[in-house]
Amino acid sequence: MKLRLVTLLLAAASTLLAACPPSSGSGSAGAQAGAAPTGYPRQPYPQAYPTSYPTQPQPYPQPYPQPYPTATQPHPQPQPQPQPQPQPPPATQRPMLAPLIGSAAMQQEVRSILAELIAVLGASNQQRVRGIPLVFDPSLEVNAYAGCDEKGAPFLAGTEGLLQAVDAVAQTKATDEMFGTQTYEAYCNAVIPSILKSDKASPGLPAGLIPQNLGPDARRWSRARELFQDIIAFTFGHELAHHYLGHTGCANGQPIVPGPNPAMLGNLLNNVLPFTNQPNEAASDAAGTINGLDAGIARRPNYRWSERGGLLLLEFFARLERQAGVNPLSPIVFLQSHPNPQIRIPVVRDVVARNWYAQHPQVNPQAN
Ligand SMILES: [Zn+2]
Repeated sequence: MKLRLVTLLLAAASTLLAACPPSSGSGSAGAQAGAAPTGYPRQPYPQAYPTSYPTQPQPYPQPYPQPYPTATQPHPQPQPQPQPQPQPPPATQRPMLAPLIGSAAMQQEVRSILAELIAVLGASNQQRVRGIPLVFDPSLEVNAYAGCDEKGAPFLAGTEGLLQAVDAVAQTKATDEMFGTQTYEAYCNAVIPSILKSDKASPGLPAGLIPQNLGPDARRWSRARELFQDIIAFTFGHELAHHYLGHTGCANGQPIVPGPNPAMLGNLLNNVLPFTNQPNEAASDAAGTINGLDAGIARRPNYRWSERGGLLLLEFFARLERQAGVNPLSPIVFLQSHPNPQIRIPVVRDVVARNWYAQHPQVNPQAN
């Protein structure tokens, strides 16, 4: 029973955080069996990032045009001919992406996204995280985390379950967006109850859930891959931030090492109860969102990553949390001590992203 509960707690941790190492240090503490856990250093956080989740949405700047004056004109004036405006490339001009199928291809995609994220960081942050190994854990829990291995070297990790869940969310959202279907709802209804019951249940897309006549559509596959990238950019932008913001305490521009054995990661995680550090989570959400937005404009005319990927992920986590709440083995104690996705969502969308757009007026928030 206890083991079962711990498993569920960890499952929920993943749901909440895409999992921040199980915040600090499940990776590091667990990896250092017999050694003192390192934990996050107690240091002040850069003031550029929110240091906690506000209970109320913060006021944000007003970068957008104010409403037009309502005073009526005495007479209709001849309207000047509209000047041609530079238009963002229409969606059809974005490169069509090949279907992203299978774990190996998804892992390669994550590596590529991580490289793009690191490439747009400031020089000092880039120096801290360049070369950090990314390892994949075969676990079906939906999880990603940053940690330090037994030698004190930093690593990033993602689970097979994370790849499957992000693929399923991307495929169903792409299908619904293009064809007006409700496959995302169907996916959540089919899969969330089972993954809350067992960490052995696959969060992958059930066979037959995408209507047979829509499955082969090349545009659908391309759009799904864009959404997969967008969600992964937020997920690993957040985890990467735990390293360069100093939360893990082990990313200092160290030489490149291979990283921990993936087979060991699952065991380490199952032995460690995650703990919460809300200021770190808020700071990593902010830095990860900004990193994804910066990488998004750098990669145009390819699909522009944005806060939308993070919002898709957090909305999925919010559903997991809501359904976990009615489970008798609910990880409610854990959930109570972690930032609720329903609080993270407005911070990412209404504070961090909105401020970024205010500083980048040339970027249309709606444009891809
Ligand atoms: Zn985190």
